[in-house]
Amino acid sequence: MTVPKLIDGKRIASELCDRVAGDADTFRQQYGLQPTLAVVLVGADPASEIYVRQKVIQCRKAGIRSTQHRLSELTPEAALFKLIGALNGDPTVHGILVQLPLPVHIDAARVLDAIDPAKDVDGFHPVNVGRLSTGTAALVPCTPLGCMLLLDTVIDPLRGKHAVVIGKSNIVGKPVALLLLERECTVTVTHIATQGLPGIARNADIVIAAAGAPRLVRGDWIKPGAVVIDVGITRVPGIGGKASIVGDCAADEMEHAAAVTPVPGGVGPMTIACLLANTLKAARNLHHG
Ligand code: NAD
Repeated sequence: MTVPKLIDGKRIASELCDRVAGDADTFRQQYGLQPTLAVVLVGADPASEIYVRQKVIQCRKAGIRSTQHRLSELTPEAALFKLIGALNGDPTVHGILVQLPLPVHIDAARVLDAIDPAKDVDGFHPVNVGRLSTGTAALVPCTPLGCMLLLDTVIDPLRGKHAVVIGKSNIVGKPVALLLLERECTVTVTHIATQGLPGIARNADIVIAAAGAPRLVRGDWIKPGAVVIDVGITRVPGIGGKASIVGDCAADEMEHAAAVTPVPGGVGPMTIACLLANTLKAARNLHHG
């Protein structure tokens, strides 16, 4: 049995963070201020708390200043808009991240639209989505960007490869499909209603699994030599009641693949590293004019 190469997202993310730290230091010397990310958290969703804590820690390590803005679960929408308006107008803030999900009484789409596109480090603003779809410079969503950086470590060139994306969400599936298209891959986007998904996946040189469905992608879906990027993160009860995290691929069946990302330790660390890279990019763009 052959063993696929494990794409070490932790190491690749750590190298990216080191590069960001060096560039953040240069930025600080040039402009006399640190690249700054404002993180907005509404309510006390436990998973969001963990994500925000991780982002703050990683920012500190990479020389990015972060400010936290915590609002109660019952905050009126207007108060959140006021905060975003203030952050948009603050020249010492370069990136704004509103942690999702938001409480149900708040319209998340309207909130994301209110962020200055130049500070939209998540890349979710319609202006950045539009720029991504026309292939012009944009702040690109972090997880899809991380997937592309991982692919670049194992496939050269990407051009001409057939990529099958499983999942069509606005935060992963669609933007990663656009990035693959931009690199002249042939892209098939699939989703919950796709018929004959295993057969479609079997034609792929690259499988990007972003469905949130554990063990959806089985070993016999994978063409020999394909590269598999597993974006899925699902918490499942583990031995002794301790939850463990699993991806969308049956990791023990991936022996035909040339390379796979582990879960955890694959795409996850890249997402935060790309958030730091986007904050630095936004800071540079804002200061270079
Ligand atoms: P989502 O629920 O918004 O979208 C899931 C997509 O997968 C949908 O388009 C749906 O049609 C498709 N899908 C679901 N079940 C399917 C099935 N059985 N067959 C084919 N398609 C199916 O989810 P999302 O926000 O895009 O996230 C997807 C997964 O990626 C989740 O597990 C999420 O936790 C994970 N995620 C990881 C990171 C990271 O940093 N690693 C970041 C974002 C999301």
